[in-house]
Amino acid sequence: MPPLEIAIAGCGPAGLAAALLLHRDGHHVTLFERFDAARPIGSGLMIQPTGLGVLRALGLEDRLLAHGARIARLTGEASGRSVLDVHYAALDGDRFGVGIHRASLFEILHAAVEAAGIAVRTGCEVEGSAREGARRRLHLKDGRSVLADLVVDALGARSALATGPTRALAYGALWASVPWQSGFDETALQQRYRRASVMAGVLPTGARPGTSVREAAFFWSLRADRLDEWRARGLDAWKAEVTALWPATRPLLDDIVDLDQLTFARYAHRTLGTPAEPGLIHIGDAWHSTSPQLGQGANMALLDAWAMALALRGHQTLDGALLQAVKLRRRHVRIYQAMSRLLTPVYQSDGRLIPLLRDRLVGPISKLGPVMRLQAAMVSGLIGAPLRPLGLA
Ligand SMILES: Cc1cc2nc3c(=O)[nH]c(=O)nc-3n(C[C@H](O)[C@H](O)[C@H](O)COP(=O)(O)OP(=O)(O)OC[C@H]3O[C@@H](n4cnc5c(N)ncnc54)[C@H](O)[C@@H]3O)c2cc1C
Repeated sequence: MPPLEIAIAGCGPAGLAAALLLHRDGHHVTLFERFDAARPIGSGLMIQPTGLGVLRALGLEDRLLAHGARIARLTGEASGRSVLDVHYAALDGDRFGVGIHRASLFEILHAAVEAAGIAVRTGCEVEGSAREGARRRLHLKDGRSVLADLVVDALGARSALATGPTRALAYGALWASVPWQSGFDETALQQRYRRASVMAGVLPTGARPGTSVREAAFFWSLRADRLDEWRARGLDAWKAEVTALWPATRPLLDDIVDLDQLTFARYAHRTLGTPAEPGLIHIGDAWHSTSPQLGQGANMALLDAWAMALALRGHQTLDGALLQAVKLRRRHVRIYQAMSRLLTPVYQSDGRLIPLLRDRLVGPISKLGPVMRLQAAMVSGLIGAPLRPLGLA
């Protein structure tokens, strides 16, 4: 493919990784971001072996490990009973996850974009795009526009470049970043549940660039329609509820002195039927977003960016390359969208029967060898062998 003029909308993991990859392949790339200074929103997330494969290929694995926390297992307890115990070691090879603050992941990718000299236009709210001859025009809200051979929609779950229904889920979660405290496993994502309506979690997230303070992401499941009630009840009532479920969290909660330290994230399920259009491709959450039950979104965004760059490298026509990019990813996207849907009632719902079965059955079953491997493959993002067609295995 000869060098293209490419406009990438959105400076999340998908947009930044796509910019790096396409720039390295000789394309002329410009990133557009609505914020005046590109910045991430939120607390921690988990990079899985899938996303790690892309970051390794980008030469960013060392920085990720320097600022993240290596995760060996995921655990969950309900009423003192183990209902989740997933070990990456159940898989072949040296597999692990990385807990990291969103700001660290952003900083690592953004610094690489800056070092490569890729143009980033901030304060540019994207409004839409339209076909113009063989090219595509990207329209900004302030009336400006740019013409490109290819527009990459990496605007996230509420993309202005994608249409189609978004199904908001009843539950979301409150998230806070807190200084790390002893008494928690530094190599595990730990969770506590009561039925599927109450969930607390602690994820080690390492130390952000420029600091030596290790942190954790603390999250608390909450129904979106109970957010006002939660605010009205106040901080002390909430802390009492959390520590009743999980007394060991008290020192972590001591650092939260204002409700505004907690950010509420509501989840939504959405999958675009047509992720590639003439001169336009949707990647990351703009193509597919789900509740983060399986913690795959940022990882899938990185895989989408890689697949797109790979397809552009291997095709002479843009339309053919975009179709190929979607083909390389579609199966894996479908599998994980379906699994996330299936797991939502298990971990975030008002149902009682499914969590009861979870509490009684999943713990004992998950000690069986094949089930251990299946669970580890599931959280690693490796079901459906997504790395093989991308040459990342
Ligand atoms: C609470 C929570 C926990 C999560 N935990 C995990 C996890 O553990 N592991 C994991 O892999 N994933 C996790 N995810 C999902 C993950 O955050 C997303 O899948 C990932 O960020 C998607 O990346 P993206 O680049 O596609 O979109 P985004 O990260 O949403 O980036 C979109 C970018 O586009 C910009 N933008 C949006 N609209 C416009 C506009 N109109 N004009 C210009 N710019 C615009 C935004 O400012 C942003 O910079 C979690 C999500 C949530 C909400």
